[in-house]
Amino acid sequence: MVIENAYIVPVTAEEIPSGHLVIEGDRIAAVGPGPAPYAPGEAERVDGSGCLATPGLVNTHHHLYQWAAQGVTPDGTLFEWLVASYRLWARMDAEVVSGAATAGLAWLALSGCTTSTDHHYIFPKGRGDLFEAEIEAARAVGLRFHPCRGSMDRGTSHGGLPPDEVVEDIDEILGATEEAIRKYHDPSFGSMLRVAVAPCSPFSVSGELMTRSAELARSLGVRLHTHGAETADEDEHCVEQFGVLPVEYLDRLGWLGPDVWLAHCVHLTDKDVRRFAETGTGVAHCPSSNGRLGAGIARISDLLAAGAPVGLGVDGSASSEMTPLAGEIRMAMLMQRARYGPRALTARQALETATLGGARCLGREAEIGSLEPGKLADVALWRLGGFHAAIDDPVVAFAYGATPPLARLLVGGRTVVDGGELRTVPGEAAARAGADAHRRLRTGDHV
Ligand SMILES: [Zn+2]
Repeated sequence: MVIENAYIVPVTAEEIPSGHLVIEGDRIAAVGPGPAPYAPGEAERVDGSGCLATPGLVNTHHHLYQWAAQGVTPDGTLFEWLVASYRLWARMDAEVVSGAATAGLAWLALSGCTTSTDHHYIFPKGRGDLFEAEIEAARAVGLRFHPCRGSMDRGTSHGGLPPDEVVEDIDEILGATEEAIRKYHDPSFGSMLRVAVAPCSPFSVSGELMTRSAELARSLGVRLHTHGAETADEDEHCVEQFGVLPVEYLDRLGWLGPDVWLAHCVHLTDKDVRRFAETGTGVAHCPSSNGRLGAGIARISDLLAAGAPVGLGVDGSASSEMTPLAGEIRMAMLMQRARYGPRALTARQALETATLGGARCLGREAEIGSLEPGKLADVALWRLGGFHAAIDDPVVAFAYGATPPLARLLVGGRTVVDGGELRTVPGEAAARAGADAHRRLRTGDHV
């Protein structure tokens, strides 16, 4: 495929006001100004006039099953919302996960996402293979997928927040996690599927599970993910139960490092910010969810200035509803400025967090996150005509304005979205699958 006449933002190099991208197989073969110097035989030519080409966006935090559980406790704190949600979530089965993941991933694709993680941490017994259900959904939609095998082992009877009915036994968790890695994880260049190990949060998981999860992940060469320092409630819980704040607790357990990325990290001390940078620990910033739950505004500007990897995430649809990933670029920028002033996060920095920053969080900066020859052809081509055309700077139009429609979305050179429509699964069917999953979970007839 050859894309020409587009405004190209490679992220790692100078912007090209009118340039070309040549794609061969699943890789970018050439990027440069003017028309393409050559076209591979039988190449499809795409006229990118009036379009902005960016790397495909990387979503670093999600709970896809929550598409089926949106709109719960719309005005509660994190802990109030969680306690109200756990009993609903306990009813999920593979069919709910399949429908919710199909809708959630389709929605991500339509907002420019080419790689998504998912953090799934509830596995009710006898309800089918939930992990496989979301993997199948990602294959159908065609996104690069990093499912994180989550877990909870500390129910209310052990001082945790979740009811005992939704937690699992530690040996079962570790056995199932190892099995998932051996069955699905593909470490190769260009991989469409990598598994991470992801106990849920300090207030739902034992210290022993955290430590043994880290040992398992490191012995198998996969990454680690969890939630951290999301709300003031969590700070209080950690001080009361462990005598320290969340990041210091994670540090003690060996949970800071270049193979770890953490969701939220809203409440950080200056020392925490330094530790993230020193250890190369990544942060998945989810500004809409943080705003929705009143968690606070994360210190993204400070983390970036210190050199820590920062990516963007939509978080689960139950705490941000149907947030589009491209919209998080705008939200991140505005929230940093509301806290730190108008120069805190530029449109270009925000775009970089959504692309290369996310790739760094997932350890894939050599493969994705920028438009460079040799990297994977994960490309979003945004149509900036119409209402967006009244802004001269395409990056400003893209980041400050409403999310523009996608002319194309390529994952490894394969067209996933064309002319604003999904080409892998029918958009209407994906939306219906999400609505059906919601009804099934709400009525609970299958339980
Ligand atoms: Zn989350």
